[in-house]
Amino acid sequence: MLKAIFHSVMKRIDAQEQWPASLDQSIEPRIMKKMEKRIEKASFWEANRAGGAYYSVTHGSDASIVTLTERSCSCKSWELSNLPYSHAIVVMREERLNPMTFVHDCYSTKSPTRIL
Ligand SMILES: [Zn+2]
Repeated sequence: MLKAIFHSVMKRIDAQEQWPASLDQSIEPRIMKKMEKRIEKASFWEANRAGGAYYSVTHGSDASIVTLTERSCSCKSWELSNLPYSHAIVVMREERLNPMTFVHDCYSTKSPTRIL
């Protein structure tokens, strides 16, 4: 039990130190701040493969199902905002993917259709 807790804490520290490796400067500053908060919140969640492209993301008694390939989460936050929520971000961390690459183009400073 103690070994499992140690492993979990070390994994979390490692993820926070290495990730995200780079910040994308083309994302709107307010969206970047929102993503940083979501990334920080994601450190409290744990992702496990649930078969196929599905991941079960848990924190205590809370749980969500994330599908990166469909850019969806059972809480629907990702679909509604086009920004990955903490549930999806924890899966990206497990898969060593940069969450900034999942931010919709409408939040880019370079996009002609950007949302102000
Ligand atoms: Zn969610």
